[in-house]
Amino acid sequence: MKNHVYMDYSATTMVIDEVIKEMKPYFNEFYGNPSSAYSFSMKSKIALDEAKNTIAEILNCKSEEIFFTSGGTESDNWALIGTAMANKNRGKHIITTSIEHHAILNACKFLESQGFEVTYLPVNSEGLVSIDDLKRSIRNDTILVSIMTANNEIGTIEPVYEIGKILKEKNIVFHTDAVQAAGHMKLDVNSMNIDLMSVSGHKIYAPKGIGILYIRRGTKINNLIYGGQQQRGRRSGTENIPYIVGIAKAFELVRNDLEQEVERQKNLRDMFINEALKIPNVKLNGPRDEKRLSNNINLCFNGKDGEGILIKLDMAGIFASLGSACSAGAIEPSHVLTAIGLSREDAKSSIRFTIGKYTTQEDINYTVSKLYEILK
Ligand code: PLP
Repeated sequence: MKNHVYMDYSATTMVIDEVIKEMKPYFNEFYGNPSSAYSFSMKSKIALDEAKNTIAEILNCKSEEIFFTSGGTESDNWALIGTAMANKNRGKHIITTSIEHHAILNACKFLESQGFEVTYLPVNSEGLVSIDDLKRSIRNDTILVSIMTANNEIGTIEPVYEIGKILKEKNIVFHTDAVQAAGHMKLDVNSMNIDLMSVSGHKIYAPKGIGILYIRRGTKINNLIYGGQQQRGRRSGTENIPYIVGIAKAFELVRNDLEQEVERQKNLRDMFINEALKIPNVKLNGPRDEKRLSNNINLCFNGKDGEGILIKLDMAGIFASLGSACSAGAIEPSHVLTAIGLSREDAKSSIRFTIGKYTTQEDINYTVSKLYEILK
């Protein structure tokens, strides 16, 4: 019997037992440095190569295009700043959206301070960017476009396939933050025409502190860290083999039951949404159905204090989040919710519930029944 209901899988996930089991020997049994020359470290070197192969197969790319980072934030920063700096002779214009994660928005702010110009595309009431807006904002000096695969707060899935096609024709580097999409959607960097993609381990049942940046061969991007030439000299530093093994295993596991889990979670999500919408004055933030991540429910409680509701949920053993957990502590209303047209009050009156691998129908029933009680 669970003693709590975890409804914050988009903030972070637990590490699943199979992943821990796979990682364990690399802490104290096969702890050799993968760069060492003696036979003992071969195990680490092989594990590193295998992890890259596994991830490359999942993303449909080459293993030498996979780089390990400390997480989504680092991957996003590297993608944006590394590409901008390496291409500044060609132009200084970057396009992104107003609903990106702060890992992107704050990297853009930094780039603005360095003389780059950033266009922040607006989104509609469902959180979708418009292809026409994108086309109109492309200029001769546009060097990079960064648009998330799916939004972390309201689960909107952006039209990345269409965007990829347009940018490929124009020969503009396309980065996508797939931190929330990984594990919930098939990600194929070739059919999506992606040049750079960020993934984070702790959203897909691997540990915190490990991430991936996919870099398409030929993409002009500066190296991130200088040192002993690990990771093809692009991000030096001895590789974190246990965590690398962990992220590869976790990614493989979520990929293996992707279709089944997406269907299962979609059913739970829709059950949650349909029941919650029966409560007077409750509204759904973000789109419905296919345009929404299978694990995301974001509800607006019509001006009622979101923080107060969250505390009452917590007292009932239900853990959810106000706006985006990655900027927790911030009193400002969510930039995503205001971008889709919510008032500051409604934005502060909204709660995100994100489900995952271990969410059951009982969890949904319990959460909805508690919401009824709290809002009465
Ligand atoms: N990008 C998105 C869309 C996210 O949701 C997050 C974290 O929530 C990040 C980037 C940052 O990832 P990390 O926590 O691995 O640094």
